[in-house]
Amino acid sequence: MNRTIELEEKYCAHNYAPLPVVLVKGEGVHVWDDQGKRYLDMMSAYSAVSHGHCHPRLVNALGAQAARLAVVSRAFYSDRLAPFLQRLCAVTSYDMALPMNTGAEAVETAMKAARKWAYTVKGVAPERAEIIACDGNFHGRTLAIVGLSSEAQYREGFGPFPPGLKRVAYGDAAALEAAITPNTAAFLVEPIQGEGGIVIPPPGYLAACARLCKKHNVLLICDEIQTGLGRTGALLACAHDGVHPDGVVLGKALGGGLLPVSAFLARREVMAVFHPGDHGSTFGGNPLAAAVALEAIDVMLEDDYVTRAADLGDYFLEQLRQIRSPLIREVRGKGLLIGVEVDPARVSARAVCEALMARGILSKETHHTVVRFAPPLIITREQIDGALEQIREVLRALEQA
Ligand SMILES: *Cc1c(COP(=O)(O)O)cnc(C)c1O
Repeated sequence: MNRTIELEEKYCAHNYAPLPVVLVKGEGVHVWDDQGKRYLDMMSAYSAVSHGHCHPRLVNALGAQAARLAVVSRAFYSDRLAPFLQRLCAVTSYDMALPMNTGAEAVETAMKAARKWAYTVKGVAPERAEIIACDGNFHGRTLAIVGLSSEAQYREGFGPFPPGLKRVAYGDAAALEAAITPNTAAFLVEPIQGEGGIVIPPPGYLAACARLCKKHNVLLICDEIQTGLGRTGALLACAHDGVHPDGVVLGKALGGGLLPVSAFLARREVMAVFHPGDHGSTFGGNPLAAAVALEAIDVMLEDDYVTRAADLGDYFLEQLRQIRSPLIREVRGKGLLIGVEVDPARVSARAVCEALMARGILSKETHHTVVRFAPPLIITREQIDGALEQIREVLRALEQA
């Protein structure tokens, strides 16, 4: 076995099952392994690397800020946080933001905001607030969040979970309405379920949920950690349904593929529930993260990642749909967030990923049956064509095997 893999197996907790490749370098859409072999990254760290690896402008912003001032905590002001949040709020049309680091932290922040809003604004009795999420959701790995999960493995052995968490079927607005009670604080939902298998709800679903939330005085909070910032061919995937939620959670690509940067964005009235000392994070909103995230937003806008994702996503999706293979059950996606569901009776998604890896394409299965294609948004049509050739050949070879 590769020595590096052996050491990681020995010293690192086994909470992942990585593909057996050791990456040592990245540039744009490519990464290289320890043998010097080059791969096209079609996974982009679960959409965190939308800008591609080691984007020169972002590396520059990182280096310059690291040499100037990196971490001060929010016990003080820094000159980098306000410009970052001002830009973030302007491009997403939100009043205020609360900066965090990882996606899960920002989701927790949204849940805390929703509960406190329920008690202080909506008038829910103490300790009664409820949050509704969807079957098949993925919002992260903290205790409260896995308490919302329908995935047995994410929950098993980790209980008890906080009360006041409920779930409804995804894509079913009537199920949401049936679950809403006077104690409901928020409905937390992904516009497209990423880890759930690139599951796209029926058109109009989010708009119907938004109407119901408004009608029942429930906050609509969309987790756009994976779908946001251009990934699906819109700045926020909610926009495909013409919806502007009460709150949105961003992460992943916000850090430009260099740092963990996340944020909860909301209307002023919602964010106003937070007072000094209510909530915090030592690293959240640090100058280094703020400088990189601001540059990441600027690059994304200047190089029009939204249009790239929309156009190239349409093309990639259409080409994948033209592949005639008995191994494929369904191809679905929006923008450059694409899932190819394979027939588990014939092949596992993992086997497809391993075969693709041998041919220089990195991808990762989700839910055993779905091969995910979510390349950096800087990918070119020629690079997609190259990947399609390998995907066709892998499917042909596996079909014969
Ligand atoms: C990745 C992801 C998260 C969790 O983000 P972390 O940075 O891993 O904590 C939450 N929600 C969605 C939709 C995600 O894709």
